[in-house]
Amino acid sequence: MGIRFTVLSSGSTGNATLVEYGDCCVLLDAGLSMKRLEQLFAERKVAASDISCVLVTHEHSDHVKGLGALARKYKLPVYANMKTWNALDASVGELPNEQRKSFKTGEAFCLGGLTVEPFPISHDAAEPVAYNFMTKSVKLSIATDIGYMSPIVKEKVRDADVLVLESNHDVDMLRIGKYPWNVKRRILSDVGHLSNDAAGEALCELISRRTKRVYLAHLSRDHNQMDLAKLTVNTILKESGVSTEERPIPLMDTFYDRSTEWDWVEREELPRYQTDINAVGDRAQ
Ligand SMILES: [Zn+2]
Ligand SMILES: [Zn+2]
Repeated sequence: MGIRFTVLSSGSTGNATLVEYGDCCVLLDAGLSMKRLEQLFAERKVAASDISCVLVTHEHSDHVKGLGALARKYKLPVYANMKTWNALDASVGELPNEQRKSFKTGEAFCLGGLTVEPFPISHDAAEPVAYNFMTKSVKLSIATDIGYMSPIVKEKVRDADVLVLESNHDVDMLRIGKYPWNVKRRILSDVGHLSNDAAGEALCELISRRTKRVYLAHLSRDHNQMDLAKLTVNTILKESGVSTEERPIPLMDTFYDRSTEWDWVEREELPRYQTDINAVGDRAQ
């Protein structure tokens, strides 16, 4: 049994992802109105009442807009670290104590058979995190809102079977764009967002034999386009020999206005030749 997931919405207008393993269905961030979230759940044939809990990355409104209303209506436990809870209090509103769950950043915990590992990222929030979702055989990493790829983020997301990584903006489009300079400076800073180039360069170190595909996420609507993000990242991967004709790394779209198809993250069968080698080895022993 693998993990399956769908990115319901991605970008500065709202973020939400469903990650499912067996009976456990986790909503990662609830950055759209409750009504819109319910529509997106229906789009992927999930009843909101089947969701087990919500995990929060950080308190920015594009990640928590519908959190309070959704958690109250469906009595969902919400997981966040303490600094994020403190920063969230005003926006999330009343929530019974038994629904307020806290974790320590860097300490993995279990939800059903799913191991959830929150790890620190560099972003201008109280204590922002990204997450690994792991079973005995597979790892799904979801990391957005990253100012720069710190050594710890690289270490945590390396070798994922499937990686959802921020590819926020094209640096040139941002520089000549209409945002005020202080906003541009914030986005470009170490606590802002990851550019297409930075995502591509990071992926050269992160992709391993295990990596099956990469989703480009949290794209800026004003300073990026999916085709441009893919072209930039793909060019870097090809130039550095990470993505080759024999073993291309598929780059997958995410959308701000619709969900991605359910994607199964499963362990790949060993190539036949390797199985044969093992079989010969076994016989020789
Ligand atoms: Zn965000
Ligand atoms: Zn943010």
